[in-house]
Amino acid sequence: MAAEVSEPDCIFCKIVAGQIPSMSVLETKSVLAFMDIGPLAEAHLLVIPKRHYARLDEMPEQEVRELTTLLPRLARVVVKVTEAEGYNILQNNGQVAGQAVEHVHFHIIPRKEGDGLGYRWPAKEYEPGRADEIHGRLLQALKARN
Ligand code: 5GP
Ligand code: ZN
Repeated sequence: MAAEVSEPDCIFCKIVAGQIPSMSVLETKSVLAFMDIGPLAEAHLLVIPKRHYARLDEMPEQEVRELTTLLPRLARVVVKVTEAEGYNILQNNGQVAGQAVEHVHFHIIPRKEGDGLGYRWPAKEYEPGRADEIHGRLLQALKARN
């Protein structure tokens, strides 16, 4: 059953609604997995909630569970088909984080040595005392309603 389009201008909502084609590999009540049109490698998949949410933190936890529970199985299939040496699960939120399509999606990207995906960050160090301060703020924020 196709979910209703919740964002008329959203390309992934249109895919969910069947208004534009996609090569889907798995569909459940609330989740769709399909092949990325611009893959890093063959069998690069996108896994999306059928309902429109721009960012992961906007999703109800139950819908996150329904989506993420499928990732191990899909990853196994991707690895089996591609004989990849490993894979990345990538999930970008916000333009600054590399999110081009503002509908939550998880990439499953099969990896091979020298495939060109670079993601290593320049690792930094905390100034003295700063890690403790941030740790305290994180714990406090987690105690508050959020
Ligand atoms: P992002 O950069 O937002 O994390 O990733 C968006 C992904 O969506 C890109 O890898 C891009 O290739 C893919 N994509 C964009 N438009 C379409 C489309 O119309 N169909 C499919 N199958 N993938 C798309
Ligand atoms: Zn959407």
